[in-house]
Amino acid sequence: MAKVRKTIQMQKIKEYVCSVRSHPNAEMVFEHVRKEIPSITLATVYRNLHKLADDGKILRFKVNNEYRFDCDRSSHVHFVCRCCGSIIDHNDKELCTKLSDVPNMRGFKVESVIMCVEGLCKKCSEKR
Ligand SMILES: [Zn+2]
Ligand SMILES: [Zn+2]
Repeated sequence: MAKVRKTIQMQKIKEYVCSVRSHPNAEMVFEHVRKEIPSITLATVYRNLHKLADDGKILRFKVNNEYRFDCDRSSHVHFVCRCCGSIIDHNDKELCTKLSDVPNMRGFKVESVIMCVEGLCKKCSEKR
């Protein structure tokens, strides 16, 4: 019984991460998932998110010292707005391929390219 509950928790967490493009952090996932599973704790959400990332089911990356999660594990670029904190996906295959094909990578084999580029989003730069 406890095992079933655990599986459902993880499923709901993964579902939420995959249903949004906002690259949520643990708190954002928690706020959503607790509506469906009121008994869930932030610690459980946190643990499950990292387990999913460790298992390679979702992508984990750090922005401003905080972990964010992404359903899209393919190589892509993130535009991170330093004003409102929004993270926008930018799929530039050419750029990512270029980086993973750099010869003489000191023997390092690139598996995926997940880049974060900081700046101001359209909305925030228009406000200035
Ligand atoms: Zn912004
Ligand atoms: Zn992304």
